[in-house]
Amino acid sequence: MNWEAEVIRKKEDLINDTRSFLQIESVLDEEGGKEGKPFGEKVDEALQYMLKKGKNEGFIVKNVDGYAGHIEYGQGEDIVGVLCHVDVVPAGDGWTTPPFSADMRENKIFARGAIDDKGPTIAAFYALKMLKDADIQLSKKIRMIIGTDEESDWRCVDHYFKHEAMPNIGFAPDADFPIIHAEKGIIDAIVSFTYQQSEENKRYTLKQFSSGMRLNMVPDEAAAIVTTAQEYDAEALKTAFEAYLTENQLSGETKKIAGELHFTLNGVSVHAMEPAYGINAGIHMANFLCEHELDEQGLAFTSQINALFDQDTRGQKLGIAYQDDISGDLTLNVGTIRYTQNEEAKLGINVRYPVTADGKDVRKGIESIKGASLEKFDDSPPHHVSKDHPLVKTLQRVYEEQTGDPASLIAIGGGTYARSLEAGVAFGPLFPGRPDCAHQKDEYIEIDDLLRATALYAQAMYELAK
Ligand SMILES: [Zn+2]
Repeated sequence: MNWEAEVIRKKEDLINDTRSFLQIESVLDEEGGKEGKPFGEKVDEALQYMLKKGKNEGFIVKNVDGYAGHIEYGQGEDIVGVLCHVDVVPAGDGWTTPPFSADMRENKIFARGAIDDKGPTIAAFYALKMLKDADIQLSKKIRMIIGTDEESDWRCVDHYFKHEAMPNIGFAPDADFPIIHAEKGIIDAIVSFTYQQSEENKRYTLKQFSSGMRLNMVPDEAAAIVTTAQEYDAEALKTAFEAYLTENQLSGETKKIAGELHFTLNGVSVHAMEPAYGINAGIHMANFLCEHELDEQGLAFTSQINALFDQDTRGQKLGIAYQDDISGDLTLNVGTIRYTQNEEAKLGINVRYPVTADGKDVRKGIESIKGASLEKFDDSPPHHVSKDHPLVKTLQRVYEEQTGDPASLIAIGGGTYARSLEAGVAFGPLFPGRPDCAHQKDEYIEIDDLLRATALYAQAMYELAK
């Protein structure tokens, strides 16, 4: 079977279907959810769109309470899962053409969901259709599983796998080519500190200190409010802050509001998958503050941040550093800081640990922080399919045959949809070297890539289920 040639024959239909599918504004509508349509009308419309197409082509289809559905082809006991999703993140502003118009230009289709994940969902559907149209007999079932809540809480797959069988093997066309086979464990922790109240008057009092909105991002802003007893002390601290900024090539600002000093400091925000690429504004602010004569609480809190996290995104100082050949270094990000004198002192930490590490050790490390208690601890364990697994070997061969490029294996710090499968990898749709425009304005898929992905998915399904 010449998969690429077969895709070209279906090109026009494939593009038309992709565009009309992308025109459904399938953003989560929590309030509009009801029985059978838990994530709102529009998300349901997108799910129905796919299931109806499946039915029209003569596939077995199933809707599992509106949470997810599947489209199935083939026979046999074993199931090959292909995990897609039809929900999209909100469009946001600044688009060149309306985000749900699916405008076509420069050989691309522009729309929210074009690359994540409605374009690839259509690609997988056409791949399945190609097998059926050619009347190819299989010894396994192929199940395209269609989720509806990937962008939020994965309630779709949670519900679906409570009611339906877990595929023996599978892939998710929802990340990068060639193959993502290892994903680090991801821990979100909120650590709360209690300090003795301090009566004694110091030169400076830290009233408030906050930084960051999300655990999975390096914060690009920190703000602190400091009061002083003497006017000349205020001037001295302002001067010291300016010197700190200059010395560290940072930007920031000091304002005097009602006798208080309001400091802001700017960092560089990046995803917590590699915090070393960013500049953590919160840690810098703590570094600056802890060098001055603060009240006891303020000093204890900022000194602890400095001692545990300064210049260290690998958990060395916390004693949780770990590294393996499959997935690299453990990474640590202090994503949020919240401090109000005599009220709260909290840190939000995101740790991504290698596939051979244990989340329990990370927990122990965090619990060992002096004076700290764990307010929240979520651990999503690592996900890893061995490089020798037949699933990986098969997908590698398919990719190399069709593209002529080496199908190197990728390990990442993020989590892909593949981790909801027991033995699953991420396989496309973004080809190496292509910029990742998912979740951004002017999201698009290259039409050539859509076609290439379809051919790859068709052969992959065939090889895995023949
Ligand atoms: Zn996605």
